Amino acid sequence: MQNIVVILGTGGTIAGVAPDGETDLAYEAAQLSVAALVRSAPELRDVPLETEQVAQVDSKDMTHAIWQALTHRVLHHLLREEVQGIVVTHGTDTMEETAYLVQRVLAPNKPVVFTGAMRPASSRQADGPDNLVDAVAVAQEPGAQGVLVVMAGTVHGAVDVRKAHAHRLDAFNSGDVGPLARLDNGTLHRLRAWPSGEPMGVAVVDPAPDTWPVVEIVTSHAGASAGLIDALARAGTKGIVIAATGNGTVHEAIEQGVQRAAWSGMAVLRATRCGDGAILDAPEDGEGAWPSAGALTPAKARVELMLRLMAVAGRR
Ligand code: ASP
Repeated sequence: MQNIVVILGTGGTIAGVAPDGETDLAYEAAQLSVAALVRSAPELRDVPLETEQVAQVDSKDMTHAIWQALTHRVLHHLLREEVQGIVVTHGTDTMEETAYLVQRVLAPNKPVVFTGAMRPASSRQADGPDNLVDAVAVAQEPGAQGVLVVMAGTVHGAVDVRKAHAHRLDAFNSGDVGPLARLDNGTLHRLRAWPSGEPMGVAVVDPAPDTWPVVEIVTSHAGASAGLIDALARAGTKGIVIAATGNGTVHEAIEQGVQRAAWSGMAVLRATRCGDGAILDAPEDGEGAWPSAGALTPAKARVELMLRLMAVAGRR
């Protein structure tokens, strides 16, 4: 029977504890085990669950090594006939990046649901238990698939989601396209189709993490210079994402540096630094324009460019 939900723990505020048990701002993330998080949600008592601790980290410190290990554990459980869905508990700071990587690499045809919390587990108003219960419900939803993020009663697709607020409980949004579904008292209201797509394949993340191509983000802003880009090119950086202004525009000083870097072989992708809205390329931009990352945030565009470089290296 395909009814098991596997919960993979990676740390974050959902597993965080404040020393005095009361403050919601000064706390240590990644303190409680994923098994302890499950025990804090009585609603999960009768759900056939398995837990596994893949990492225990504040997600601001997320590493490529953890991404590699997590992707392999997710794939391992996806391939088990008896597993209906997977939940990943994760810090909110880089949740959108990890979720995007897993979607691009595995494009799963079962649900892989990321969740976390904005308040530590020790808070009197901890949001982690409700988010975990919602995430498990989505992982059990018949027909659900793809990598999803469930926070504050809202279901987002990994490609669209971004952390948009520094401290509100409802910190995530899906930009212009909006969420995939909402949960009201456990009832799921679908708004859009579940994510689909072609997986890049797990082999793409198999190289040793310290050999993954270095891809950096450079922000275009008033008073910019090409200094940073020239330094990155000298350091052998393989790719840069320009966090561009508005509809993908780039300061002319940065533009010149990027041109030099591209001639020396550096890959380039433009993402908008605006919180919302995809870059719309005008036809007159022609072939000379740097490729755009559409609606991806700069941090997700960095993941995309890195994976593309790894895929090309893997084919050689
Ligand atoms: N710094 C924490 C983390 O990303 C924040 C959170 O989880 O909300 O792990």
